[in-house]
Amino acid sequence: MITIDQIKQFCGSIDTKRHNIHLPWSREEYSYATNGHVIIRIPRHPEINENPDAPDAAKLFSNTLPPGEYIDIPQLPEPILSNCSVCRGTGRIAGEPNWIECKECDNGKIAELQKITIQGVIFEVIFNVEYLRKISKLPNAKIAVVNNTEKPSWFKFDDGDGLIMPMRF
Ligand SMILES: [Zn+2]
Repeated sequence: MITIDQIKQFCGSIDTKRHNIHLPWSREEYSYATNGHVIIRIPRHPEINENPDAPDAAKLFSNTLPPGEYIDIPQLPEPILSNCSVCRGTGRIAGEPNWIECKECDNGKIAELQKITIQGVIFEVIFNVEYLRKISKLPNAKIAVVNNTEKPSWFKFDDGDGLIMPMRF
């Protein structure tokens, strides 16, 4: 069974202005988490609370074109990391009264945006590698590319499923 910590990796960061997606939420028979680009759905988890302000995820799923054939997630390139310019790669900035954690990076490092193209039945669709990397760590994750370069595609794993938005060139 997927853990709460695994689900939380799909939440929006604390810094995002969308305060309704900082935590997973439950509604009707499902629990959800999203960062605005990827949404994950599992059978309702007893430790995940309801949130009346959370997005209407059920509608998002029902409005998405049905998945075609599920395929393995392709091999993903290694992340390309560079030093954060705000904290100069140290992960800390001067604060009051002490050094505080830099919020612009992950321990001084910034992951470069990487894209990957996956061939659907008709179209090739482009995805953010960072999001696919998270999905690929779910048990038996597979993706079904929707034949529309502007609509979300499906993924599934042992305990649930989800949607991932494509990127533009
Ligand atoms: Zn930094």
